[in-house]
Amino acid sequence: MVACPHCHTGAGRFGRRPGMMRLEPYLRLLDEIGDYLLLIEVFNWGEPLLHPELPAIVAAASARGIATRVNTNLSVAMTADDAERLVASGLTDLFVSVDGATQEVYERYRVGGDLGRVVENCRALAAAKRRLGTTLPRLTLQFLQFPCNVGEGDAVRRLAESLDMRLLAFRGAVPDPAWGEDAGWPPWFLSHAPRPCPFLWGQPVLTVDGNLAPCRGVFQSFDDFTPYAGDFRAAWNHERFQVARGLFRRRTGTPDERRLPCDACPTTTFYESWRRHRDGGGTRKTFVPGVPLNANNAWNYFWTRGQQPAPL
Ligand code: SF4
Repeated sequence: MVACPHCHTGAGRFGRRPGMMRLEPYLRLLDEIGDYLLLIEVFNWGEPLLHPELPAIVAAASARGIATRVNTNLSVAMTADDAERLVASGLTDLFVSVDGATQEVYERYRVGGDLGRVVENCRALAAAKRRLGTTLPRLTLQFLQFPCNVGEGDAVRRLAESLDMRLLAFRGAVPDPAWGEDAGWPPWFLSHAPRPCPFLWGQPVLTVDGNLAPCRGVFQSFDDFTPYAGDFRAAWNHERFQVARGLFRRRTGTPDERRLPCDACPTTTFYESWRRHRDGGGTRKTFVPGVPLNANNAWNYFWTRGQQPAPL
């Protein structure tokens, strides 16, 4: 088992009952809204390759023409048959987390992981693709830069090249809101127009408990918005979703409503800062956000919230 220290699960926090996605609510949701889905991300706060039914979960989406993506540490036992089953599922993208090109650097973050095994598994998947004559899944090495591996980017790039894999590199999140402010990684708002949170309108998140959560940042089950009981329209328009969406128009609400994770989330407060600026006649060029917004401070928000006890 890999215990990544900046993952709630890896850090041993359990904001919800540990478990695996059950097929039944997933397939029901697919029946309801599958015609409208473009992509399903089959992971959240866990290791998806530990799920024995992962190929079936992916295959159900593939059969509907929906793209799928799995993020994994891939430091798991995998036979040639396992690799072939995953490839045969029609999976579109597999992102493999590798944060160091030597075991010594790699395991600073992927604690308990085995880089040799990860590399072997990458080769097994590439071989399975050749046997099955398919170009999918696209195989990508994902490098997260942390303080413990700052100088490792080039070595991981060479590793990706040797495995004939694409490389995706970005800044990992650490429990320090100042991390990376001066490192030359552009702030999120320079490449994206400020906008209301995309999760609340277009990216439903089904949890292993069978609930709809507001987004994948939320970790504790008490922050989920509503159970999904086979009526997506009702769940998606549940009062909590309506209140959360309303926060992008006005910043009022009852104390209960203000306890929703969206109320103090950097996505909401950043947009509020932009809206005030825009409504005062400002433009993107003149916008100096009162609140920073990047992956790290959004993650810090959820990390801190993840340490709070359930409200009474
Ligand atoms: S908590 Fe933040 S990121 Fe999550 S749905 Fe609400 S506004 Fe969006």
